[in-house]
Amino acid sequence: MARLFVVIFLLSEIIGIGLFSTSLTATARTSQETQVQTEVILQLNADALPTGKYTYKFLAGYQSDGQPLYVPVVVIKGLEAGRRMLLTAAVHGDELNGIAVIHALVKELGPEKLRGTIIAVPGLNQTGLVGNSRYYLRSEGGGSPRDLNRLFPGTLSGGGAASRYAGNLWHNLLKGNADIAVDLHTQSTGSDYPLFIFADYRNREIAAMATALMPDMIKRDSGQEGSLETSFVTASIPAVTFEIGGAKRFQQPLIDRAVMGIKNLMVAEGMLAGTVIKPLLPPYVGSSFANIYAEEGGTALMKVSLREAVKKGDLLAIMLDRFGVEKRRYFAPRDGRVVSVASDPLKESGAMLVRLLY
Ligand SMILES: [Zn+2]
Repeated sequence: MARLFVVIFLLSEIIGIGLFSTSLTATARTSQETQVQTEVILQLNADALPTGKYTYKFLAGYQSDGQPLYVPVVVIKGLEAGRRMLLTAAVHGDELNGIAVIHALVKELGPEKLRGTIIAVPGLNQTGLVGNSRYYLRSEGGGSPRDLNRLFPGTLSGGGAASRYAGNLWHNLLKGNADIAVDLHTQSTGSDYPLFIFADYRNREIAAMATALMPDMIKRDSGQEGSLETSFVTASIPAVTFEIGGAKRFQQPLIDRAVMGIKNLMVAEGMLAGTVIKPLLPPYVGSSFANIYAEEGGTALMKVSLREAVKKGDLLAIMLDRFGVEKRRYFAPRDGRVVSVASDPLKESGAMLVRLLY
């Protein structure tokens, strides 16, 4: 009998039904209840909410198997009225540091400390996040992945699956809930940025936002059609693209600095009490990129670091062939600052090795 009990116990453990594990059952039940308690919403109107902290699952679309695509939303409505700051992360599904930034901010901040409203979306591109991809992954159109950050403001009907996903987010979640917006990114997989901002300096309020976020570097940039940032700016909502390091990892020092920068912006916008910090070392501001691409494939040895000042003719990288023999040296085509370097040494021809800002 004892032997039979042991056999049943082991079998139940192996197939995972946990017959004899009451704590496991209890944990599963608790997490299911938490899921149920997070309200599903089709539209957000943060203005109509009373003071408090709220989490929602925004129904952004449906997958081809009929499963809903939920986007996580956190709203913190302050005790006093004020600006509405929208924070979005992972519109590119491989860019994760912004998710950790939002998690840290919404954990720390409560309605009692806040004047105005924070609307935070820690994970816009659900299919990209699950599929481990920068792109929005879809089954239509032969399955071609789409860059969601080139499709805003999207469409509410027609225009394809990715465009409708973007349009639903734009019209029912994002646009109507923002006075200012910070879209959190990282460099694409295989390369790194420092703390770096794209900002449209033709608008003085946007330039002030960029400085308040205390990045290492800023590019004066007139925008990218279809991006969240440019869609906001076109809709007269000041916005910046905030690049935080590299993809597919959590880089805590950069995450901590981004949190500090966003809180500094909130002070500047009157949303938090305090004094605006002015860093001793101002950010390096440039208007153009010089991208240095690999001419032939191989393994690249990087000879410069992020934020480094380089002069025309300085050595940037050495490309080795598969036997370790040097194939080519890459030099700076002009003076500038290193804003991006390859973190993945494997480079095919045409892949970017270094990006200079000047
Ligand atoms: Zn991005």
